[in-house]
Amino acid sequence: MKRRQYFLYTKKTKITTLFIIPLLCVSPNQRTEECKPCVSQLFIFCSVMLHLSQDVEALRGELCRKDEECREQERRLAALEQQVQERTGVIVQLQQQLEEAAQRRQELQLLRDGEETLSRQAALPLQVKYVTKTVEVESAQSKQALIEAQAHNQALQEQLSVQRQLLRELEQQLHESQRSSSQLRQQLSTDRSRLNGLLSKAVGGGNTEVTHRLSKILVYEGEMERAQGQLEAEMQSLEEEKNRVIEEAFIRAESEMKAVHENLAGVRMNLLTLQPALRTLTCDYNCLKRQVQDFPYMLEKAITEAKQEICQVIGEVSSANQELLRKYKREMNLRKKCHNELVRLKGNIRVLCRVRPVCAGETDAADTKNKVTFDPDDDAVLYLSNKGKLMTFELDKVFPTQATQEEVFQEVQSLVTSCIDGFNVCIFAYGQTGSGKTYTMEGVPEDPGINQRALRLLFSAVSEKKPDWDYKITVSMVEIYNETLRNLLGDNPNEKLDIKMCPDGSGQLYVPGLTEFTVESVEDINKVFDLGHMNRATACTNLNEHSSRSHALLIVTVAGFNSSTGHRTSGKLNLVDLAGSERITKSGAEGSRLREAQCINKSLSALGDVINALRSKHSHVPFRNSRLTYLLQDSLSGDSKTLMMVQVSPLESNVSESVCSLKFAQRVRSVEIGPSSSSRRQAESSSTSSSPTHDGVEIKLVKFREKMLKYNLENNLKFRE
Ligand code: ADP
Ligand code: MG
Repeated sequence: MKRRQYFLYTKKTKITTLFIIPLLCVSPNQRTEECKPCVSQLFIFCSVMLHLSQDVEALRGELCRKDEECREQERRLAALEQQVQERTGVIVQLQQQLEEAAQRRQELQLLRDGEETLSRQAALPLQVKYVTKTVEVESAQSKQALIEAQAHNQALQEQLSVQRQLLRELEQQLHESQRSSSQLRQQLSTDRSRLNGLLSKAVGGGNTEVTHRLSKILVYEGEMERAQGQLEAEMQSLEEEKNRVIEEAFIRAESEMKAVHENLAGVRMNLLTLQPALRTLTCDYNCLKRQVQDFPYMLEKAITEAKQEICQVIGEVSSANQELLRKYKREMNLRKKCHNELVRLKGNIRVLCRVRPVCAGETDAADTKNKVTFDPDDDAVLYLSNKGKLMTFELDKVFPTQATQEEVFQEVQSLVTSCIDGFNVCIFAYGQTGSGKTYTMEGVPEDPGINQRALRLLFSAVSEKKPDWDYKITVSMVEIYNETLRNLLGDNPNEKLDIKMCPDGSGQLYVPGLTEFTVESVEDINKVFDLGHMNRATACTNLNEHSSRSHALLIVTVAGFNSSTGHRTSGKLNLVDLAGSERITKSGAEGSRLREAQCINKSLSALGDVINALRSKHSHVPFRNSRLTYLLQDSLSGDSKTLMMVQVSPLESNVSESVCSLKFAQRVRSVEIGPSSSSRRQAESSSTSSSPTHDGVEIKLVKFREKMLKYNLENNLKFRE
């Protein structure tokens, strides 16, 4: 029964089994007697062991609990860490708020700048609109900024109180956790002391296994304690760190707050100082406003006065202008009169002579030299040796062979410019073929003749008269061949043109379909000349021959308008390269050649007759006798001016034609001047106050008249039958 009981014990634990086995190996008799004290000892031991095992179990449970507590502590620690993280987040927020506070401080700085600007502007001299606007806008802004800053300040303070509350709660939690941890620590120390007692008991009992296990437990506990110590140290340091950060944040926030308060106080001060300035400005503004209200009336008054003054000045200027205009017109009339007088003195029809040089490859130079000679003292005289007899011809001017194109042009340029003043001018080149007519009128590209020089002169003369006068220069080119007109600038040069009377009843003639080009530059002129030459060349087989049997006319119209006076002028310059004047023996010519000769003869005779009638002031001038004179009717009659350039060849073979040309020239020149002009001239010549020039011209005219009368009487020569 007992053995069974022991066996039950052995079932409870493996350790007890070891003690029971020797008992079973002993015989039943021995067991009863010898082992009685041992059994009692064994019972005691077993009961002690039972107690120990119970203690161990209790210790294990305690250890588990401790483990549990330790885990609990760890959890708390994690919770604390989380709290620390949250606090860190709070700190970050606080830092952000601090940054915002710094930003506000910057804004306050801006406000202060604004105030400074305001004060500076207040110190500036008053400018009505500008100052008023600035002050109003700036003060409103300042107030707004102040209100915002105060609101922000309020929000910051609220946040700070919330933070403080949070801090207090956290501190309470910390205290509680510290309290619980101290309780735990106390419990642990009591447990440990109990364990130590147990251990010492176990050691005293000599059980090494138990001692070993207990020592292990102690080691664990030591480790736990160490870990807890570390944990606490960490918590402590974290706590310190937290306190430090909170402290710093608090200090910073406080300093920021202080700064904000200071700024606010500054702003308030500035506002207070600005108020008087604002009052002054408002006062000034009101004053200026009153002035501005009065301004329209003052302005109106000033404008009325200014208008009156301006009207008065305009009236004065206008009367001065009228006076000037009157004087100008008087001067213009005087100028025209003087010009007319000069032309009258020179003769409305001037006859010049140009002797061309001997060209290379022509007859013996020595022989030629003797045929045409000049008077070194008188540039109006020319001598021609004809059949051993020296003939003297007196003209308005004689150009010797060496005369340049420029010299020739200088003599005619006053005529050219007179068409700007509204005169009609005709310049003819007369002479036999090969005498230099085309050279004088057109010239050569490197040394241009009258045509191009005249247009150049017109361009420069009209540009000088700008801006008062505005001129338009137009050009036409016409050829008269066999009494028909050809438009040399038209699309069809073979088209024949007609001369018609203007339908407006003005008695003016015009050529329907005649092409006119407006020219403004030398390039324009050259283009026009090239087109004219091209058209002239396409209309004939031999240009040289053809050109000698037709008249080429360059008609330049100069129309001017004076914008200040409203005065208009229109002058025409006709530059005519006449057909060759050589006589064709009727017996030698036939067919078309005879017709050409007849036409040329007719037109040149008609020209002579017209000039004759004009100079003699005949009531009837036979303009209609030829196309040439009919076309130039406007430019030959009235107060128009004519210049005849008689071209002479120096060659001996041309002497008889030269004589004819010069006789024609003298006939034109010697036309009797009308009685009224004559009587006036006589009256003028008897006057004592004649100028030297005037005297010279008068003497020349008298001399010339006498000579021509004598010539006419003696020869009774009729030019061209
Ligand atoms: P026209 O037109 O009267 O028939 P041109 O003008 O054709 O005569 O002249 C005939 C020739 O004489 C041309 O070769 C021309 O170059 C030359 N000539 C005419 N006059 C002069 C002058 N003043 N100087 C030089 N050569 C001239
Ligand atoms: Mg010619």
